[in-house]
Amino acid sequence: MPDTYAVIGNPIAHSKSPLIHAEFSKQTRQDMYYETILAPPNGFAAAIEDFQQNGGKGMNVTVPFKIEAYKISTRLTEQATAAQAVNTLVFDGNEIYGDNTDGTGLIRDIVTNLDFAITTKRVLLCGAGGAARGIMLPLLKQEPRMLAISNRTIQKAHKLRQQFSSYKNIVSGNYADIAGKEFDLIINATSASLIGKPLPLPLSTFATESLAYDIMYGDKNTPFLQFARKEGATYLSDGIGMLVEQAAESFFIWRGVRPETKLLIEMLNQKN
Ligand code: NDP
Repeated sequence: MPDTYAVIGNPIAHSKSPLIHAEFSKQTRQDMYYETILAPPNGFAAAIEDFQQNGGKGMNVTVPFKIEAYKISTRLTEQATAAQAVNTLVFDGNEIYGDNTDGTGLIRDIVTNLDFAITTKRVLLCGAGGAARGIMLPLLKQEPRMLAISNRTIQKAHKLRQQFSSYKNIVSGNYADIAGKEFDLIINATSASLIGKPLPLPLSTFATESLAYDIMYGDKNTPFLQFARKEGATYLSDGIGMLVEQAAESFFIWRGVRPETKLLIEMLNQKN
């Protein structure tokens, strides 16, 4: 019988994870099955227990359950602890291992797929929600020259900086605070693109040869990427590569095999 995995969320029908993991398992010849689980808002714990009791090996967790997944994990990785959110679970007897592969996936997409080095660059992280928290540690490990966190609600930006206070090259504020400063890498980790809104970024935020990365993905450039293009960002990317890379990292955690991602990213980009 194949090993069973799943992605759990609400809503879940739109998820590309089953397609991605089906491709990975075919490519690496792993005997596994990956399904979707729609859990009611208060039904996460019950769904997990049921899945575990039926022999499920691991899960991806998406909106709105990443914090609950963090809380039920009996062991956490460094990334999951820093993110205070879990997107990958491994079930092993009574233990539930929780990891967060979102940040690693983003960094792999930027550094490996897009061939954009982060080390010594000036980085602007827009947003201070769950996704931004998950990105912080892998981003800092790349040793950027400086990291600015900008968020609409300024207190949340400060709180995120304080969580990483052992790093001395971080500043935080709102969007007006970065006026007059230029960045080489600008990451939109807000959900503004979900509602079709641009960010209130000052002019001249995008340095020559800069990369603008929106972790959202869709069939056309988001308002953030449209603004970045107008403002002179040289490279633009949406978050489809991050989606595939975070899945590849989860797959590696579960199966110990690293799947190829390049062709799949190209295929998903063509479909978009
Ligand atoms: P949260 O709800 O935790 O945080 C939302 C963030 O967006 C906050 O910083 C919030 O600011 C900001 N925001 C929302 N609306 C606006 C607006 N109109 N203008 C400016 N800022 C705004 O969400 P997550 O962090 O969990 O998710 C953010 C996005 O990341 C989602 O779109 C999600 O789909 C995407 N994502 C993509 C992944 C991928 O693999 N490509 C993986 C994970 C997430 P404030 O604090 O002021 O409210």
